[in-house]
Amino acid sequence: MAPTHVLRCCQRGLAWIPVIFIALVVCWSYYAYVVELCIFTILSIGEKVVYLVVFHLSFIMFVWSYCKTIFTKPANPSKEFCLAKSEKEQYEKEERPEAQQEILKRAASSLPLYTRTGAGAIRYCDRCQVIKPDRCHHCSACDMCVLKMDHHCPWVNNCVGFSNYKYFILFLAYSLVYCLFIAATVLQYFIKFWTNDLPDSQAKFHVLFLFFVAAMFCISILSLFTYHLWLVGKNRSTIEAFRAPVFRNGPDKNGFSLGFSKNIAQVFGDQKKYWLLPVFTSQGDGLTFPTRLVNADPEQPAAVLHPELNKSDEDGAVQPSALSESQNRLLDNDHHSNDDQLTDALKFEESETITISVENES
Ligand SMILES: [Zn+2]
Ligand SMILES: [Zn+2]
Repeated sequence: MAPTHVLRCCQRGLAWIPVIFIALVVCWSYYAYVVELCIFTILSIGEKVVYLVVFHLSFIMFVWSYCKTIFTKPANPSKEFCLAKSEKEQYEKEERPEAQQEILKRAASSLPLYTRTGAGAIRYCDRCQVIKPDRCHHCSACDMCVLKMDHHCPWVNNCVGFSNYKYFILFLAYSLVYCLFIAATVLQYFIKFWTNDLPDSQAKFHVLFLFFVAAMFCISILSLFTYHLWLVGKNRSTIEAFRAPVFRNGPDKNGFSLGFSKNIAQVFGDQKKYWLLPVFTSQGDGLTFPTRLVNADPEQPAAVLHPELNKSDEDGAVQPSALSESQNRLLDNDHHSNDDQLTDALKFEESETITISVENES
């Protein structure tokens, strides 16, 4: 085997260490809670049953969402975003960046693209040889372009992006519930430990550590979880929170925001009964995303315009001349059922700037 191949195999193996660490902690917490606490320490049958039922519910949901986050493959750009063979050859032969950009521009003319590089160029990944769809980024750890990439998470040894972002949020939520439940129910036995009311056995040390570990994880997960909830509400990825996506008219951190409830629906879907289950209900295909640009992108042939949006609202204020929700196929179906929300969004002040921010809370 070539040394680089061996090195890559080692790297891949080492990348599983954080996941194995979490798995071991979870296995120990299961043993400590079920066997040492519920079976050996708690005397009341009623308390045992209630604790075990709730514990197992949160445990199952936690493990389910964790596994889905780990084992869901990141989604990659589809074939349409690859250059044709002749274009690729031309691109590789060409040394002048301007000429390369012309080739990319031609290839991208039929693609639904709104974002550009900071310099206004078509975003292209030389490594994957693909035109990057909006919100797609190259992950050096996975060595691939990932749709709506959020970040590469070592704790799940996977890229968090379009295909598993909902699972990741649920993983954070259920791990928080799991740790909170353990900390809350262990607290009284933790106090008994310090007042020497627990029988002298190894169980008391498991109880002590259970409380410490659960409380420690609670604190660290809580901040991450609230941050991601905030991101979902704003329809931003972690990458976009640090660097605003650049549209034809310049960077706009709210470029993909559609208002609070629509932003939530983008990740969790519009059927509330599936929101808490780690099953895929995110909207769209990960390649195109609805945007709210005041002026329709003139170079976007497929842009879906909404003639009804040119009308004045009931206050008589003239609305933006053309409001594009991008060419997302999904929104075609979506905008009819969400007309009310769309009208609400239009009631927000029209600014002189290039884009309207349609955050409900702003
Ligand atoms: Zn790439
Ligand atoms: Zn990655």
